[in-house]
Amino acid sequence: MIDELDIAMKAREFIRLCGPSAVPVSVDAYAAQIGGQVLKETLGENEDAWSFRDSAGRYRICVNCTHNARRQRFSVCHEVAHVVLGIPSDHTAPSWSYSRRPPGEIACDVFAAELLLPYQQFKPRVDGSDLSIAAIGSLADEFDASLISTGSRFATFSREICALIVSEGGKVRYSARSARLREARGWIRPGFPLPTDSFSARIRAGERPSGREDADPDSWFEDWARDGALFEDALHLSQWDQTLTLLWFDDEGLAAPVPERKQWDDDAYLLRELDGILPWPSGKKRR
Ligand SMILES: [Zn+2]
Repeated sequence: MIDELDIAMKAREFIRLCGPSAVPVSVDAYAAQIGGQVLKETLGENEDAWSFRDSAGRYRICVNCTHNARRQRFSVCHEVAHVVLGIPSDHTAPSWSYSRRPPGEIACDVFAAELLLPYQQFKPRVDGSDLSIAAIGSLADEFDASLISTGSRFATFSREICALIVSEGGKVRYSARSARLREARGWIRPGFPLPTDSFSARIRAGERPSGREDADPDSWFEDWARDGALFEDALHLSQWDQTLTLLWFDDEGLAAPVPERKQWDDDAYLLRELDGILPWPSGKKRR
């Protein structure tokens, strides 16, 4: 199992070496820091990027120019991660299968997310943001990163009791939870179908989103045993049948913790929660 915190620290150290940076970050500057150069190439549809060392010892990072710009930025950071972490590429497993993705690839994704959405610049903006999908969208624009990777890190770093859930085909594929929600043992099971009549299920069915709504904690969280009002905001990306759901509790209304009824095996879920990245649609192979 990889040590996510260790990788995040290495990424932050690397960012420091690159010197002061504006937002959005320059991925070319990251490439330059490893003596690399980014080349735009037409690669196979499922290929994100690949890199090699030329005869002069310089890294050439070939990124797929047919992908959208934000995905290319992530891909460049991923390739930089391979060099900095000294992890050889292993792109045999499908990227959409988190459980089958090699630990080295996950490590590079963690590093890449840290480069693209640097903690030092990102965290204060999270703290100053409203809890809404629109606010996450603004941050994604500001950092020139995908909505999903921005939203995942938004939830992970939030001071609130909140989660960002990514569903595909109406089923939960991934969730990122804030520290306080993890402490509160709010767990959303992967594979779980979007609750019937939830805001998320309805916008997937074609209803027009109209801002946040009240939500039922019991329909979202397993073994939820607390009071407190839950709110839900959602966005449906119809081209991939992906639904983004932001859930958060009203702080004031949340009752004191009840004794734990169940001992969760948090370690088993740690990776999934901390990665904060899922920037490509399923069925796409990442390199
Ligand atoms: Zn890789």
